[in-house]
Amino acid sequence: MSDIPRLDHFVGGERLPPASGEYFESTNPATREVLYEAARGTGDDIGRAVASAATAFEDPRWRDLSQSRRGRLLRRLGDLIGEHAGELARMESQDNGKLLREMRGQLAALPEYYFYYAGLADKIHGSVVPTSDRQVLNYTSREPLGVVGAITPWNSPLTLTTSKLAPALCAGNTVVVKPSEHTSASVLRLAELALEAGFPPGVVNVVSGFGAEAGQALVDHPRLAKISFTGSTATGSRIAAAAAGRFIGSTLELGGKSPNIVFEDADVANAAMGVVAGIFAAAGQTCIAGSRVYAHRAVYDELLERVVARARTIVMGDPLEDGTELGPLAFEAQRDKVAGYVELGRDEGARVLTGGRVTDAGLGGYFYEPTVLVDTGQDMRVVREEIFGPVVAVMPFDSEEEIVRLANDSDYGLAAGVWTQNLSRAHRMAARLDAGTVWVNTYRAMSPMSPRQGFKSSGAGVEHGTETIKEYTRLKSVWINTSQEPVADPFVMRG
Ligand code: NAD
Repeated sequence: MSDIPRLDHFVGGERLPPASGEYFESTNPATREVLYEAARGTGDDIGRAVASAATAFEDPRWRDLSQSRRGRLLRRLGDLIGEHAGELARMESQDNGKLLREMRGQLAALPEYYFYYAGLADKIHGSVVPTSDRQVLNYTSREPLGVVGAITPWNSPLTLTTSKLAPALCAGNTVVVKPSEHTSASVLRLAELALEAGFPPGVVNVVSGFGAEAGQALVDHPRLAKISFTGSTATGSRIAAAAAGRFIGSTLELGGKSPNIVFEDADVANAAMGVVAGIFAAAGQTCIAGSRVYAHRAVYDELLERVVARARTIVMGDPLEDGTELGPLAFEAQRDKVAGYVELGRDEGARVLTGGRVTDAGLGGYFYEPTVLVDTGQDMRVVREEIFGPVVAVMPFDSEEEIVRLANDSDYGLAAGVWTQNLSRAHRMAARLDAGTVWVNTYRAMSPMSPRQGFKSSGAGVEHGTETIKEYTRLKSVWINTSQEPVADPFVMRG
């Protein structure tokens, strides 16, 4: 009998072994050590989870809970996450190879998401609508949708799950989460904490497994009222089509190829740090990675020199060590994908100024050196496609007109960075950039309070802030005739 821990699904408030009896391994990408085996979910398990969520949705313990009490449960869950932050951060760092420092930071911020939606829970309401007939009372109410499916990637498992779970629960839905097959552990633990916080069994369910099996079965389940997805644009497009075919809503947070733009009037030292943070933090495995850097020709050389110098001193190694700055890619295929893109870039004519090599950092894991590409053009695939690794292309530009055109010349529209000391220019750029998030003199800032949306192929629908509540509710219009007059003419509409 192996001593590798086995993790079952979490359905109806209990651990549920997979119907197939099959499990799959999850490994630490820094060392290739097997961490645990997760249940391999199939349509049967998804069926159980959706049925459990559907029952919980109708259960008076959840359906009739006052909105302020729903808020209290969210607050309690936030508190529990805070109490377990250290354990959860370590779990995630070992599972996806991101720095423990970074995951600690994410986990320290995570309770704030639950507190934010706890505060919002009793502020969801409709309104009274004036109509032309004073005898008629028309009001709207915002209702929960039912069973929400949430499918999430591996790069920030709990944060990205929370962006869906917290508002979905805040609005009174029940949820089935299918986490990435690379990072099941922390999301399963979150479901246990939700039960401990007092959410009735079946309100939060997690089925682990692969996208083509468990994920697809969840998307295709006829009782699903909504699908909320974060992941690649290719998968998102398939999910959106499936949802549209059944007339259910989908919220999609997808890929990016974000421009990080340095003007000649920028504080170049700061901008260089912003460029490094934008692409090398999390080994470039963030949707918002600033993977296309454009520097005004007047500061191009200085910026490049600073970025390359910092890239060369980045400390690669064990993500659990405090001094480490760059961990591994999350799994072997991801490392190979990154290496393949750099080779492709070389073939396309790009020059590798630093990096460009696979390494195991002496730990046996899937590392890739921080890499800076130059001599890249707008038509090259390394400039157009998402690499999702520590690889940046740095290119010069000459004017504001030109940079707006270059920055917006992308299928994606997730985020953009602008570095300038000129206030008017900052606002002009913010208005003209075709991206859902624009940062000026900072990069990678995020808050549960601030709504975000991917433009173009980067997504559809809003996450975070009050706006996202619309994604998890439906609007009902109720008409009450207060008049005691007999109906005069049945063939004339009232209103
Ligand atoms: P992915 O699309 O391969 O997988 C994401 C999730 O979808 C996983 O849980 C996977 O199992 C599931 N899945 C895959 N195929 C499926 C199918 N046919 N039906 C249903 N589910 C399916 O993405 P990934 O490699 O895990 O994540 C990286 C991608 O996520 C990058 O493109 C990145 O930009 C994007 N991302 C976007 C945001 C954002 O907020 N915009 C945040 C983080 C990551």
